[in-house]
Amino acid sequence: MDRRHFIKVTAVTGASAALASCGNPEHQIIRFMPEESLVPGVAVWKPGLCTLCPAGCGLIVRVMEGDAEIVRGGRPGVIRMGLAKKLEGNPAHPVNRGRLCPRGQAGVQIVYHPDRLRQPLKRSGPRGSGEFRQISWGAALEELTSRLRELGSNGTPQSLRFLTGPLRGGRRELIDRFLAAYGAPPRIAVELFTDDVLRRANALSFGIAQVPSFDLARSRQVVSFSADFLGTWNSPVAQNLAYGEMRQGRPNERARFVQVEPRMSQTGANADEWLPARPGSDGVVALGLAHVILDERLRPASAGGRAGALIEGWDDGLPHYAPEIVQEHTGLPAARVVRLARQLATGALNALLGSVGQPGGLFFSEQPEPGAPGAAPDASAGVRRVRALAEEIVSSPASVQALLVYDANPIYASPAAWRVRQALEQVPFIASFGSFLDETSVLADLILPDHAPLEAWLDDLPESGTTQLAAGLAPPAVRPLHDTRATADVLLDVAHRLGGSFDGALPWQTFEEMLRARFDRLANAQGATSDADRDEFWKQAQARGGWWREGPARPSGAPVARAGAGRRFAYEPPRFDGDSTEYPFHLLPFASQTFFDGSLAHLPWMQEIPDVLSSVMWGSWVEINPRTAERLGIGQGDLVELVSRHGRVEVPALISPGVAPDVVAMPVGQGHAHFTRYASGRGASPVSMLAPMVEPETGTLAWAATRVLVRHVAAGRLVLFAGGLRERPYEHEPR
Ligand code: SF4
Repeated sequence: MDRRHFIKVTAVTGASAALASCGNPEHQIIRFMPEESLVPGVAVWKPGLCTLCPAGCGLIVRVMEGDAEIVRGGRPGVIRMGLAKKLEGNPAHPVNRGRLCPRGQAGVQIVYHPDRLRQPLKRSGPRGSGEFRQISWGAALEELTSRLRELGSNGTPQSLRFLTGPLRGGRRELIDRFLAAYGAPPRIAVELFTDDVLRRANALSFGIAQVPSFDLARSRQVVSFSADFLGTWNSPVAQNLAYGEMRQGRPNERARFVQVEPRMSQTGANADEWLPARPGSDGVVALGLAHVILDERLRPASAGGRAGALIEGWDDGLPHYAPEIVQEHTGLPAARVVRLARQLATGALNALLGSVGQPGGLFFSEQPEPGAPGAAPDASAGVRRVRALAEEIVSSPASVQALLVYDANPIYASPAAWRVRQALEQVPFIASFGSFLDETSVLADLILPDHAPLEAWLDDLPESGTTQLAAGLAPPAVRPLHDTRATADVLLDVAHRLGGSFDGALPWQTFEEMLRARFDRLANAQGATSDADRDEFWKQAQARGGWWREGPARPSGAPVARAGAGRRFAYEPPRFDGDSTEYPFHLLPFASQTFFDGSLAHLPWMQEIPDVLSSVMWGSWVEINPRTAERLGIGQGDLVELVSRHGRVEVPALISPGVAPDVVAMPVGQGHAHFTRYASGRGASPVSMLAPMVEPETGTLAWAATRVLVRHVAAGRLVLFAGGLRERPYEHEPR
């Protein structure tokens, strides 16, 4: 479907009306007022937004009339309604331009998942037992409100904590306003593979704490440092599109591309050259390249601009990063470093040393309302950490009396050494807004299940992936299937029940009203001068799946303000947990192509898709270099044990030439104790055995800083779909 056709057929329908009770038992068909755009047998495409990773892609949802089995008031029935049949990329959305990744496609399974929580639940057994009883929404809201009222009247509103996933837009603004009005500390964001280190580096180098967009389509040379930009990192759909243009979209010009990383990712498998640098040594490779470029006077030191000025020794030509020294640190041959530096200097030095805002370089996407509530990114500044929460509870249990959890599973996403589970077990009251029972929500005293994303109002402000000014918006594409409520509306309801300071902070009756107010602000900023202008802006945004500035992109270019002025940074060797003689291998956890950070392991399509490199399905594996496997007597599919100072897992071995001999790599995603029938008790998670180390500038988990030992356990079997990676591209290399 092309962009014009989509906009023409998209219907804006008020699909947010709640389902009425079936009333009568035994599969009675209840007919609602028909949705005007739905004709039996004819599909209608409605806009949506993908919330399954931070990229913020736009969807279109194929909706057709059909019968759905539901339960209301404990009684089964059948209802005729618009059902979401298929998801596609929104051709008009500037991030993904009509494409969608497999994870995005599987979003429709959230709606119809057999283990979805269908109504509010109250814990009825011991905490963590998974025993709950159904309660009404009235009772659930009253319980949550009375708990919060009690804390407020005790004078301890600061003992409330709110854990969320990374949020943007209206939902973030709403929760932040809620906490401020209540007098609670700021939200705690839970994100395993956070980009906060990159944001911090960009704040120091360019003055903006944001993940950049890369103009791959116009690049001539690309060097990527451990960024799986075709797989899971940043804005993968947008980057795949641009990558296609970079490699095949320009007559007589195919860009050259080098990937530096210790484990071959999907991106690395597509590179012209793969450089398996030692874990933690990417920065040395970059400094070594800069040394050659400066030493051979291919570019002056001043070309490094502000970013170069931050680095100790830059103006002197980085004498401590001569190729031979780089070889010692990284394991990469000095000659390859020199060759790569010369290629860069003749081709696209811009991409390394001063390409911000230049064609073929990197851009920081303009934000519709910079600094406005909910504007991207959800940066580290002001966002507290799970580790600090766990320490606080353990050292002073009375400090946290109530915990709210939305779109986050901190127990799964934290190393066991942080003791997050043990800490949360001590919190007197936990309320979850989750749609499924997982490792965290199973501890809840009260569950107020959220709508599926396709059933709710959504907005988003993509942080990267486009140089166009953009704000996504999606009305509900389908009516709610179960007796769930949108968390944003639940929080507004609770705020109104509490009254007082909430009346001014959250004046909206519904989240739809709040989004309308946000888009009115945006319309005003774009020159709207009348109610009619604002009405039209709102209507168009709903019909198209958001608002974005038409015409050629106007990237923001390099920002002006700069944090960290005057600071100088010198290379510090990476630190790893575990002695190298006792724990000889670096453990490299990586985001899964299908499960991302583990939050999508409950979707059966994701379990069924063979991993793009290994072809493993329905399980976990650890990638071991053939030479290492031979030395340890490990065969393909054998069961091995990985042991760190903080935990152990047993997992089948996948013998892969795409991983360095001193590294073992394992995908994150499986190993859930509780996460529906499809993921519970399946495979193992490397996160559980990670060391409790953090990156000092941002306080985020140093997830690649753990050493392990590897032991053969038994002969085993690994479910491979097609045999996995067979070629041995760099077997002759010294490492
Ligand atoms: S990259 Fe995939 S999962 Fe992420 S928002 Fe886009 S479609 Fe969704």
